[in-house]
Amino acid sequence: MESINLISLLDETGGISDSLNHKEKKYAVFFTDIVGAATKVYPIPISKTDVDCIKNGCKGRIETLLKGMRDEIQWSCTICHHKGKISNWNGTRWDFISS
Ligand SMILES: [Zn+2]
Repeated sequence: MESINLISLLDETGGISDSLNHKEKKYAVFFTDIVGAATKVYPIPISKTDVDCIKNGCKGRIETLLKGMRDEIQWSCTICHHKGKISNWNGTRWDFISS
């Protein structure tokens, strides 16, 4: 399971870093969409989001799991089971718990 540190994709203003290449940016947007969707419904732990799976050709949507305010956000595709974890999302502009 891939685990990413959201802060590593951001610049000093808290936005998605311009130094990322096209593919990395696409993933950064994907991850921030997931953080927004998961934190919007918190403290409900499971969110069936509107975020499309990032795998080419997959028509699945992303489901998230967030049990505690300081936990990693776990995500998985409902169809292809592509999945991962996101850490260090707390306090970013996509964190609807802190805002
Ligand atoms: Zn998928």
